[in-house]
Amino acid sequence: MHINDAVFLEDLCPKFRLRQWRKSIHKFTGKSCIYCGKPSESIDHVLPRSRGGLSITENCVPACLSCNGDKSDENALYWYRKQKFYDPRRAMAIRAWLEGDLRLAIRLLQWANPNFKLNNKSYKKDEPNYKVA
Ligand SMILES: [Zn+2]
Repeated sequence: MHINDAVFLEDLCPKFRLRQWRKSIHKFTGKSCIYCGKPSESIDHVLPRSRGGLSITENCVPACLSCNGDKSDENALYWYRKQKFYDPRRAMAIRAWLEGDLRLAIRLLQWANPNFKLNNKSYKKDEPNYKVA
């Protein structure tokens, strides 16, 4: 794990640190749920805290409330495979994320969702076109 990062983050005020960290997680995916692509409203622990999952970037992904709640404490990749919106590119992205390769994860998400770079407003605006296409 990234011990240097942890030491650096400890220097910051914990509340500020948590907020910035959450923000940065959502930013990685352009505020979209890593599972279904809807706006991300929460942070999902891939390995649930109840099973010893840590609150570190490699274990925390942006997720919408519906995915986060539905997944509950199931294994994320196993749960994801059963979903209607399952996309193998997203599954690969999740795996890359868990391995700490965020650059690869983001590339795969961009591949899965061409509207990825846009913010939520333009994403919504473009959605009808996207569906028609
Ligand atoms: Zn979702």
